[in-house]
Amino acid sequence: MKQEQNILLTGDRPTGKLHLGHLVGSLQERVTIQDDPSYDRRFVLVADIQALASHAGDPQAIKENVRDVVLDYLSVGIDPAKTTICVQSAIPAIAELAIYFMNLVSVAQLQHNPTIKTEMKDKGFGASVPLGFLAHPVHQAADILAFGATRVPVGSDQEPLIEQANDIVKKFNALYGETFSPIKAIISKTPRLVGIDGTAKMSKSLGNAIFLSDPSKVVEEKVMAMYTDPAHIQVSDPGTVEGNAVFSYLDAFDPDKEGVAELKEQYRKGGLGDVVIKKRLIGVLETLLTPFREKRAVYEKDADLVETILREGTAEACSYTEEIAKKVRNMMGISYL
Ligand code: ATP
Ligand code: MG
Repeated sequence: MKQEQNILLTGDRPTGKLHLGHLVGSLQERVTIQDDPSYDRRFVLVADIQALASHAGDPQAIKENVRDVVLDYLSVGIDPAKTTICVQSAIPAIAELAIYFMNLVSVAQLQHNPTIKTEMKDKGFGASVPLGFLAHPVHQAADILAFGATRVPVGSDQEPLIEQANDIVKKFNALYGETFSPIKAIISKTPRLVGIDGTAKMSKSLGNAIFLSDPSKVVEEKVMAMYTDPAHIQVSDPGTVEGNAVFSYLDAFDPDKEGVAELKEQYRKGGLGDVVIKKRLIGVLETLLTPFREKRAVYEKDADLVETILREGTAEACSYTEEIAKKVRNMMGISYL
């Protein structure tokens, strides 16, 4: 069944609204790819089962987040006519493939996966980590392979998960015959945006995010409270640019690269206050986020349309992935009836 098509699959866990990290790590790439003719199909998956793996006690919150994430997609320009938007729990083929793949991966492999190790630490899981959470890389491989996807735009934190998925591809093909093509991670120019607190990664669950749907006032407050250089006390003090979150964001979002380079030089020498660079960043983010807010407001008023987009996308994804699941069963020799 090995197919030579170029299929895109990406997704997000509906553990909260999407933020600037998602935008530069993956969303912008997804929007660009919509007009790239080398892709045959594009799918974006709202990974609600994987959100439940860390929030099992709060399905109602996940449900609300699903709608918010779809609104985030539509507001940044994911176009349902070009990209199929679908929800994971309503696609049986993904769950089925995940179960088959579990036999191809050892518990030790999962425990040593760098992404899982970091997330277990962030979420405070010890030995009591839910099995579903530990199995996340297997489930994610099923997400990708249920669509026969070959390209996955992700942030750099996800690379070890793509490696795990490719390991499953190799094992599956070796055991049951050539079935899946290798998967390529598409890593963006800003593969990991730091949090506003200056820590390693902006994340929904670390409370250090600027959300795409934050109103102007909130963006302003968050930027004004951002981590810069703790040793830069007086305006005249020389400051450090590396590790300074405001400069990381200017690098990621300010289109005037020369202007940013000049500011960095001035900041290093001393004589440039944090307020000046923060005000500039607020302006840059306002320009970026205003069109998203306007688009979001249109969709927010039309709940039926948003539901229809998700329902129709999911129905399409169900029939598409069921064809692949059928072929998988055939390859495995488990289609008895
Ligand atoms: P959680 O805190 O629940 O893990 P998250 O904010 O890390 O949420 P995910 O749903 O885990 O978001 O990630 C979705 C996609 O966005 C992944 O491809 C991930 O690599 C990318 N991504 C998330 N945060 C960032 C970031 N700070 N910089 C770049 N890419 C990111
Ligand atoms: Mg994450």
